Amino acid sequence: MRYISTRGQAPALSFEEVVLTGMASDGGLYVPETVPQLSTDDLAAMAGLSYAEIAFRVMQPFVNGEIDDDTFRRLVTEAYATFSHDAVVPLNQLDANHFLLELFHGPTLAFKDVALQLLGRLLDHFLKKRGERAVIMGATSGDTGSAAIEGCRHCDNLDIFILHPYQRVSEVQRRQMTSVLADNVFNVAIEGNFDDAQAMVKASFADQSFLNGTRLVAVNSINWARIMAQIVYYVASAVALGAPHRKVSFCVPSANFGNVFAGYMAYRMGLPVERFVIATNANDILHRTLADNDFSKQELVATLAPSMDIVVSSNFERLLFEAYERDGAAVAALLERFQAEPTALADAPLARLRELFASHSVDDATLLEVIREAHHRTQEILDPHTATGYRAAERERGDASVPMITLATAHPAKFAEAVVKAGFPGVPLPPHMDDLLEREERYTVLPAELSAVQQFVVENRR
Ligand SMILES: *Cc1c(COP(=O)(O)O)cnc(C)c1O
Repeated sequence: MRYISTRGQAPALSFEEVVLTGMASDGGLYVPETVPQLSTDDLAAMAGLSYAEIAFRVMQPFVNGEIDDDTFRRLVTEAYATFSHDAVVPLNQLDANHFLLELFHGPTLAFKDVALQLLGRLLDHFLKKRGERAVIMGATSGDTGSAAIEGCRHCDNLDIFILHPYQRVSEVQRRQMTSVLADNVFNVAIEGNFDDAQAMVKASFADQSFLNGTRLVAVNSINWARIMAQIVYYVASAVALGAPHRKVSFCVPSANFGNVFAGYMAYRMGLPVERFVIATNANDILHRTLADNDFSKQELVATLAPSMDIVVSSNFERLLFEAYERDGAAVAALLERFQAEPTALADAPLARLRELFASHSVDDATLLEVIREAHHRTQEILDPHTATGYRAAERERGDASVPMITLATAHPAKFAEAVVKAGFPGVPLPPHMDDLLEREERYTVLPAELSAVQQFVVENRR
């Protein structure tokens, strides 16, 4: 199997190349050339298997024999051994037919661990094989940075530099990054805002000469391996609820669309899914597009569900590629128009999307109400991202006899602000993290100057 670009112009790549490459050279994103199929028998045979074994079976065709089976099985097993729940991603039944899929039992308490625990190990494996080293650079205002650091802290062939805006991330989020004292982990606090940090990372990718030939790797959600790893929990949870013998629906708190696109891939592989409900916060480009065919950028709104605060939803391009029946030129033209002005999808692709996807947007005031209401009805305190999903799932349920699985994307202790605003005293960190606020921290404060940041990278990479 090879991987092709959604804009149809970049060369096709192998799995190894696609893991080491971020965006395609034509500005598109890589997707598999063909979608491997899970037959009814394949799905039925997964009943009762461990999460790691299901993960191996779902992902193995995408790896395409480029990692031998024993090694890949070991990488997968190690990645999911870092989760604190034996089921890795347990299902929690809320009422007669509504389930929460708890994706927050990894090292940083948000679902990004599922992908990044594996991605770090895949990168390290390929780099070792090639006798190369690489540098990871990323900017974060929240979940991605800590998950990337946890995913790479044991990687011999990677050095990771994560930039965060100085004094502008929550204490829990900062400490999740800065208390990792591994030799290959460098936290940089930029005297500026998130956009300053992001701009310096982008400039470093655009001109990598400061690294003298060392590979620079991105771990943001456009990396195919992140999508691949997320397909697994859709399959595992549906099998736990009776797939392939009955359908399920999923509701996904969404921003860059990586998570729900992974669900779509599971569906395309043969998982029986009734519908996907996309939940957004006030940054509702996905909802506006599906509901009103308003595919346009709007001003960023800072919400109580900050990990869903986006203007553009980068992985939506992967779904558009399918909706436009893999016409890369049409996707490229649409996205060029979108960059310049408000636009709309063509009728046929939009109709295709509406057959499978519904959407709902939840503003901050509603979100607080939902946290209270969900607690009243189920005794659960939802994190604010998950709360958008809970409401969207109830509103866009469709056939009530089909089990609805809402993805719980973060642990509520990680987003205490919303929980406290909703009127609760807060939620304690889980036991393995209860000393987080006492742990030693290490980070370097630098001015928001590209040369200072790049010099720091060059001097500190191993
Ligand atoms: C990243 C994130 C999201 C959004 O996921 P996408 O894959 O970008 O759609 C939702 N909730 C939490 C807690 C996150 O960290």
